[in-house]
Amino acid sequence: MIPIDSKLPGSSDSIFSVVSKLVKEHDAINLGQGFPNFDCPDDLKDLITHYLKAGKNQYAPMAGTMELREALAKKMNTAYSSNINPITDITITAGATQAIFTTIQAFITQGDEVILIEPAYDSYAPSVHLAGGNIKSVQLKAPTYKIDWDSVADKITDATKMIILNSPHNPTGQILDNEDHQQLEKLLEGSNILILSDEVYEHLVYDDSKHISLAAHPRLAQRTIATFSFGKTFHATGWKMGYCVAPENLMKEIRNIHQWNVFSVNSFLQYALAEYLGDPSSYNTLSSFYQAKRDLFQEGMSKTPFKALPCHGTYFQLYDYSDISSLDDMAFTEYLVKEIGVGTIPLSPFYSANYSDKVLRFCFAKTDDILLQAIDRLAAL
Ligand code: GLN
Repeated sequence: MIPIDSKLPGSSDSIFSVVSKLVKEHDAINLGQGFPNFDCPDDLKDLITHYLKAGKNQYAPMAGTMELREALAKKMNTAYSSNINPITDITITAGATQAIFTTIQAFITQGDEVILIEPAYDSYAPSVHLAGGNIKSVQLKAPTYKIDWDSVADKITDATKMIILNSPHNPTGQILDNEDHQQLEKLLEGSNILILSDEVYEHLVYDDSKHISLAAHPRLAQRTIATFSFGKTFHATGWKMGYCVAPENLMKEIRNIHQWNVFSVNSFLQYALAEYLGDPSSYNTLSSFYQAKRDLFQEGMSKTPFKALPCHGTYFQLYDYSDISSLDDMAFTEYLVKEIGVGTIPLSPFYSANYSDKVLRFCFAKTDDILLQAIDRLAAL
């Protein structure tokens, strides 16, 4: 056997893969890994079939088809009165994960520090480590999970190169508001710190709140790379199609890496998505669709001993189970799958250390019958 030094020692299967596997083995209901159990819209499938059959099957341009980039620029510029240039400021990627990875590789070098807000989505830290960066984490606390900007300020040093933000936030369902944006602006003023803004749940915001992209923010956009996912917006996580938006000078560096890593992504999907985005109702109705699911789930779960935490966005709902069990969150997750027949996601894998809360994440991107069935099972606790 050839001896190898792992570039990511200690890395193992993601918690999403672990829970999905366990759920399958025990034939449980999967409210763990974040994906809908319903399909993407039929008219989108028709468009995809159309472009597949029309022969849009060869390499797309490196940054993505002009049609899709123009549709995305129009979507953002209409929403935010911004001036995003489809030629220079948008790149289509293999999911948001690749956009995040590529962005980090483009800007982080040995010894750079990256500020991470925990709980943090699982792909951020390994991407930073592979680039040679060091993570400085700030922990959010239940039940509000608001960012304490003074704690963020304390982590900034001369080596800080980037802060990674995620709003709407997985797993807490919290969103950054104008006040957060102002604090962030004040904090970064005069520095060269970049913002990687993961906005994959941009269209899943509730109770009349509005998502504001940092890529279109009048003063923060110059330092922001925002990442998005068609998988979330069109109920199609398996496509792994996404994009990133950044000013020209930053995007040049991202494309520099994208070209040698991926080059370009699925062509017929890009043509179909460009046309589909022409009708804004395809994404503008998502908030009300998912808010109804959140409300149905919360209402049903109120009859169980789980205690709901606030959820303002994403398709995830957190529940405190401290009244039910003293097991840690990994052990309780396993118990729920094996004994109750419901898969959930523990929060501890989203933290690097010092975490012991009794809180689980439930994905409510499921048909109502499945949500009700899961609630019935959980009510037995
Ligand atoms: N983003 C999804 C979640 O949070 C999981 C994606 C994955 O399995 N890598 O559940």
